[in-house]
Amino acid sequence: MKIIRVFLRRNSYTPTDIYSFYGLPPLSNLIPKHDEVHISCVFTWDKVKCEELAFQWEGQTNKPVKIGGPAFGSQADSFVQGMYIKPNIIFTTRGCNNQCPWCIVQKLEGNAKC
Ligand code: SF4
Repeated sequence: MKIIRVFLRRNSYTPTDIYSFYGLPPLSNLIPKHDEVHISCVFTWDKVKCEELAFQWEGQTNKPVKIGGPAFGSQADSFVQGMYIKPNIIFTTRGCNNQCPWCIVQKLEGNAKC
């Protein structure tokens, strides 16, 4: 399955393959053939912007556009290399033992576990 992943902004961890985009969609003839579009949203304060981004992508594709990520409480049951983070960058643990008041990691994933 070919999945386009869309990020609100690019950083050093953002994948760079041809199915990885950030921001608004390009002209439809510049979008590779795909089966789904996933809008990846990390921070809760970006949720509205990510929803607007999903709306824009829905106008450029006839395939399903899904929105998710930590900001939307998506479960992280498995890890696919290169999907939402550049290849060769991995997470060796989930969760966190701290309880910083501004962070949802503890609420989503509980205490740190390997
Ligand atoms: S609770 Fe969140 S912000 Fe605090 S240390 Fe853990 S992951 Fe980092």
